[in-house]
Formats: sequence, structure tokens, C-alpha cells
Amino acid sequence: MRPKILVVEDDHALRDVLLRGLREEEFDPVPAADGATGLRLASPDVAALVLDVGLPDADGRDVCQALRANGFLAPVVFLSARHQLHDRLSGFSAGGDDYLPKPFHLAELAARLRAALHRAGPCPPLASGDLVLNAVGHHVTAGGVAVPLSPTEFRLLAPLVAARGDLVRRRELIRAGWPEGAYVSDNTLDQYLSRLRRKLREAGSRLTVQTARGIGHRLS
Ligand code: CA
Repeated sequence: MRPKILVVEDDHALRDVLLRGLREEEFDPVPAADGATGLRLASPDVAALVLDVGLPDADGRDVCQALRANGFLAPVVFLSARHQLHDRLSGFSAGGDDYLPKPFHLAELAARLRAALHRAGPCPPLASGDLVLNAVGHHVTAGGVAVPLSPTEFRLLAPLVAARGDLVRRRELIRAGWPEGAYVSDNTLDQYLSRLRRKLREAGSRLTVQTARGIGHRLS
């Protein structure tokens, strides 16, 4: 099944190029010409979002923030003519996963989408014990109860579920959870893992994240 990509871009010529190009790259793109339409079409089966920052009715970063507040966890790749460091950083702090300055090559957007989808986790659903992970829409359930996870928590849980009780090394978790080259301290990883444990416990999961000190973690 081709991953469904919601493309929110008001420039109709660029939108057409994106739709055609993404189809050629084996995605299933769905167009939206403004932020309100993007919000309406961001359903749980959307695998990733391509989101223009400069939209007629809203700032794309506000759209992303609203989606995150609604529990939309799929990767978001921003497109923007503004490419100063502070512009890019504000895209990440709004909950974006990647930021591509215009003009760009479609092949690069497609590669970034594939990388974001890869980081987002496996597809089709993965299960270990009472946990089921669905990369489409980033749903996680524990014994049928939804576990509300942030995008980073989801990316950390995915390799642990995929390992089905085997050990996952800390550096593999960091690679799964954060963009390449990001500096992630041991403390940061531990904080995310303890939040993940708390959320699994609150959802009533029988599994938790165990620590093999100095080596890695496993679900058990
Ligand atoms: Ca625009």
C-alpha cells in the first residue's frame, strides 16, 4: 500500500508538481490548499504531512501545533522559502520532523519523506505482548487501550516492540528517536524512557521498559 501523504501548499503550480512527483515516487498524495483544509484532512490514515509554512489562512507552524495538540503524530515535513536558522528551529519547536527550504528537488523531498516514515516506525502493525503499534497515524494500544504518545516516545517504542523482548542498544534507540547528528544526552534518553514507562503503566500494559545497565533496554 502506498503511504498517504497530505500536501498542504497554497501555490497551485507547486502543488501540482508535488502531487505528480510524489505519485511518481510511489506515494499517495492528497492535496490541501490552505491550513483549514489541511487540519480537516489530517486523518489517522495519513502517513506523513508536507506542510508549507506560508499559507493564506494560517502559519504552517500553527497548523502543525494544532495537529500535535489533537494527537496527530505522523511526521511533518515543512516547506518554506524562509530558511534562516531561526525559521528552521521554529519549525522543529512547532512539532515538525524536518524542514526543507524552497526551492528544492522533488527527489530530496521524497528521500526525506521516506526517512521520516522509516523513523516513524514499521508498517504494518507490530505487536509484542499486549502492545500493538500502528505506524499509520502512530496509534499504540495496550490491551486495546490507546496509549497517548508523543512522536519521540513513539519512535523510541517502535524498535523495542519490533525486538519482541530482545535487548535494544541505547545508541539504536537514540538513532530511532532523534534526527541524525542530534546531540542526545543519557539523561534525555532516560527521561523519555521514564515517561514511556509511566504512559504504558497508565494504559494498563503488562509490559514495561527494562534496563540492562550500560547495555540497553527491552520490553518485558
Ligand atoms: Ca505558500
